[in-house]
Amino acid sequence: MTSKRTRDRLVQRLIEQGVSHQMVLDIMANTPRHIFLDEALSHRAYEDTALPIGHGQTLSQPYIVARMTEILLSAGGKLDEVLEIGTGSGYQTSILAQLVGHVYSVERIKPLQDKARERLRLLGLRNVTLRHADGGLGWPESRQFNAILSAAAPRDIPDSLKQQLAPDGVLVIPIGADTQELTLVVRLGDSDEFKTQRLEPVRFVPLLSGVTR
Ligand code: SAH
Repeated sequence: MTSKRTRDRLVQRLIEQGVSHQMVLDIMANTPRHIFLDEALSHRAYEDTALPIGHGQTLSQPYIVARMTEILLSAGGKLDEVLEIGTGSGYQTSILAQLVGHVYSVERIKPLQDKARERLRLLGLRNVTLRHADGGLGWPESRQFNAILSAAAPRDIPDSLKQQLAPDGVLVIPIGADTQELTLVVRLGDSDEFKTQRLEPVRFVPLLSGVTR
């Protein structure tokens, strides 16, 4: 279950689904996913499927983690500072942390954040700052990011997130309620103009407002 061979099989499936960024595939082949699940479910960790992590939330499907990460890397810009909305289990956070300068990640459910922090520590990933906050409002302090990735879906693109994009910054986010589309928003230079592109249909938990203890 925990073996490299099992993870290699998962990576093979990702390739078949069209993921092609070699660095993303390498990191996914080398990052354990089972530690992000409760023990009762850890035997299913290398299935290409979303899995429950409690509090009505899910660990994202590996394909979508790979795809969103690949989109950020392929955008071609700097990735010194990256904001993630919806830490959840911390799995996507751990993949990002191995590929970018620093990950800032917000989660609205405190117990999920606490567990994620423990797992990231276990993996020795130090370039991550976690906050318990409503990510729909962006990072709590005013700050700009080269890239923002959201693992929860709002109905419309939040203006607060667009405003936290650095020049040429990219936002990858699922948008919609009943049907959702993975959406790429790019800030054009240092202007206040943005280019929006719909990429593919997806299914994420909704972006909720407020925080819970
Ligand atoms: N990539 C994560 C996905 C977790 S599911 C993983 O693989 O584990 C999405 C997460 O977004 C949930 O944990 C949910 O609590 C969180 N979320 C939803 N709305 C949020 C908000 N407004 N601010 C911060 N986190 C939010």
